[in-house]
Amino acid sequence: MGAAVEGDGWFEAGMTDWLGRFFHEINVPCEYHEVEPGRGNVVAVLPGNADRPCTLLDAHTDTVPVAGMTIAPFTPFEQEGRLFGRGSCDVKGSLAVMLELVQRLKADPAQMHGTIIFSCTCDEERTQKGAADLIRRLESQRHGLLATVGEIDQTVVFEPTGLNPVVAHKGAARWKVQTDGEAVHSSDPSRGINAIYRMAEVVRALEQYSHLLKTEVPAHHLCGGATMSVGRIAGGSSVNIVPDCCRIEIDRRVVPGEEAAAAIAAAETWLRANCETEFEFLPPDTISQPLNDTGNAELAEKLIAAASGIVEAEAIGVPYGTHASRFALLGMPTVVFGPGDIAQAHTKDEWIEVKQLEQAVEILLKFLSLS
Ligand SMILES: [Zn+2]
Repeated sequence: MGAAVEGDGWFEAGMTDWLGRFFHEINVPCEYHEVEPGRGNVVAVLPGNADRPCTLLDAHTDTVPVAGMTIAPFTPFEQEGRLFGRGSCDVKGSLAVMLELVQRLKADPAQMHGTIIFSCTCDEERTQKGAADLIRRLESQRHGLLATVGEIDQTVVFEPTGLNPVVAHKGAARWKVQTDGEAVHSSDPSRGINAIYRMAEVVRALEQYSHLLKTEVPAHHLCGGATMSVGRIAGGSSVNIVPDCCRIEIDRRVVPGEEAAAAIAAAETWLRANCETEFEFLPPDTISQPLNDTGNAELAEKLIAAASGIVEAEAIGVPYGTHASRFALLGMPTVVFGPGDIAQAHTKDEWIEVKQLEQAVEILLKFLSLS
């Protein structure tokens, strides 16, 4: 395929159709939940032993775009123990592990596992609409397949963690700040108000605030400190007009223990007290909460125990966000776990080590049968 499949018209439909057929062929009940036209989640349920924990396994079906890749993105090939292709690491490798698990567990007559929900969610890389839709369906009066499962006891969100359970990660808040001015002919700027000059003061103050965060917000022992960065600026329409509007975009990473919306409010309060110019905070574009390591230590320990003899695993924290913080808000222990190294995610020659895929299957089979 290649470049022709890029763009907003493509999305996950090819993947979700294939997954639907896969679950149907192995006779595991599944549903397609449309999230928006052409995009949706595939959710399958493997019933299990009622005395064992009910587990939700989540892997996203989307990838980042393929522009600039140095390998054929959708023609996987193996070389020296590495499988190359877009999504191999983030996170189709894990999705393949999930499909191997469902086949192996379904065929296992001992049935030592509890009920497992396999959630294949869309739109993780951008706005996480897929996870939000599934969570809404789990929280409200359940219908269809989801009505057949009881309370979920634990959730594992697949991302490339090098087979270490991630118990904590940062979240993000992103928003825009706007300054307004008064447009006049640039031959007599004194008659107008320059929105870019106003924004310059805001930006300078925000830089100061970003340094203060190091001392104002306690660093998390696994994830490090809170950060803030102004990433974009746009203003003015022509060099001979005094600009009447300027906007910046801000990225604030929140650490476990912080709340994303509260972090924006705190920045605004500080700026109002420390910057005299007029400005406006626009509604947030992104609110993603951090994953807190307060209720998931036991779950991480179970995964580490299952990994023993296969790999040396340890509970870790990471700086990037995942679906896990959303599922954790439902109140169940949630960790992130999966084969592959995040260093290879989103790269121009993305790959995953095949051995880690096999190890992940072994670890998770043990985990699901032990827990
Ligand atoms: Zn991912």
